[in-house]
Amino acid sequence: MKYILSISAFLSMLLAAATISAQTEVDQINDVVTQAKIRAHMSFIASDALRGRDTGSEGLEAAAAYVSSHFIAHGVDTMAGYGEYLQWIPFQEVSPSDSATLTIGGQTLTAPQDFLVLNGETQQSTMPGKYIGFGQEADLEGEDVRFQFAVAQVGDGESQAIGSVITESREKRERAIDAGAMGLIEIYHNVQVPWSMITRMAGQKQLSTDAPADKRHLQMPHIWLSAADSVVTSALLEGGTPIQLDMQGLQRSDLPSANVIGLVPGTDPELRDEYIVYSAHYDHVGIGRPDAVGDTIYNGARDNAIGTTAVMLLAEYIAAHPTKRSALFVLFTGEEKGLRGSDWFVEHSPVDLDQIKYCFNIDNGGYNDTSVVSVIGLTRTTAEEKLQAACNAFGLEAIEDPAKEQGLFDRSDNVNFARKGIPAPTFSMGFRSFDQEIFKYYHQPGDEMESMDFDYLEKYVKAFVLSAISIGNADENSFWIEGDKYYDVGRELYGK
Ligand SMILES: [Zn+2]
Repeated sequence: MKYILSISAFLSMLLAAATISAQTEVDQINDVVTQAKIRAHMSFIASDALRGRDTGSEGLEAAAAYVSSHFIAHGVDTMAGYGEYLQWIPFQEVSPSDSATLTIGGQTLTAPQDFLVLNGETQQSTMPGKYIGFGQEADLEGEDVRFQFAVAQVGDGESQAIGSVITESREKRERAIDAGAMGLIEIYHNVQVPWSMITRMAGQKQLSTDAPADKRHLQMPHIWLSAADSVVTSALLEGGTPIQLDMQGLQRSDLPSANVIGLVPGTDPELRDEYIVYSAHYDHVGIGRPDAVGDTIYNGARDNAIGTTAVMLLAEYIAAHPTKRSALFVLFTGEEKGLRGSDWFVEHSPVDLDQIKYCFNIDNGGYNDTSVVSVIGLTRTTAEEKLQAACNAFGLEAIEDPAKEQGLFDRSDNVNFARKGIPAPTFSMGFRSFDQEIFKYYHQPGDEMESMDFDYLEKYVKAFVLSAISIGNADENSFWIEGDKYYDVGRELYGK
């Protein structure tokens, strides 16, 4: 007897099969991701014992060992070439100069009120100054600045954006060194960032990964001078006036810290050379100013013990149920110090960047709506539908960044991937605005797990896992929406 399957019967079977497979994934996630496991991981990562997980601290190293141990337990691989799960970053902690004075035309100026020391070793020197405009290539042409202070205006004469002023300043220093100057003084006047704010920022310790090739780069004094004193600035602009500098140098000490990287190879022979990065920063801000009850440990349960926990549980899930594409689990150090771990990762990636098809990052400031997940960049990549469906499967709704004024897309590790062209949104706990409820815990000692809603966290982590595997198993890679700021650089990266 011939059996004829009608089209509609066939379609309904397909539909049932699809429902069953979706159901199976939800069931499997329910088995792996439990509230008890979330609590267990959080209770260690956000504990006082880890002292707020500051970059380079023993507390953060203990957290790295904990994540590594979890990877071992679940059979997550190390990357080829890495003996362990750790990608060490040779950070140096640079402490500001303790004291410095500058005497120009008989007038003595003191740091940090009147000027800032950005670079240089301890020294006493007296040299003439030579004014070189904005210190551009063209300004330096035909000028002899050897054995003198090169004196320049800050910036390039066009952009006032502080980021470009800082980048320009670094380049100017290189140019001054190449031209044989013995020091560089930049006269600071910027309408966007007042001098008082600059001195506050510069009073903090910084992390550096510069490895200056020759000693002159460490030695050469580089100074930003407030333009406030017009007598001094006009003396500098005229040139020839002897400049006397007496300064304590910057102090550098090694402060290595590691990203943690785990791998589960993909199952599809065609797609296994493609990678999805699933990332979270596991550092926080350490110990600091006490709050009203005298607590000094910034536990960072929301920021970002929960994200770290989510990536650990995702790794456990994918190790048991591998995706078609290879999965790279990356826990970044140094996020709170200026996205340093992710910056290092994209510059020293263990796989070619064009093999990384998507970075699915998770980071959290806090939450004030437990019916939603706020995905920073939800509508900027073609994964939107997948993420929405995954959130819906656990009774949540995905919403786009509701607080655009905060610039969150550019304030977490995802942006270092985006700049390279890799589509990279950030999954975050539900918030409708950056209000008091968020600021109550955001970067506060009170950001502890006891104040969190674990019924919500369970759904949230499950939605993260389902979103992640739907990206890792998709037939087509998701990409930037046409017209996005990163669309063109993405096309370039992948040769589209
Ligand atoms: Zn964070």
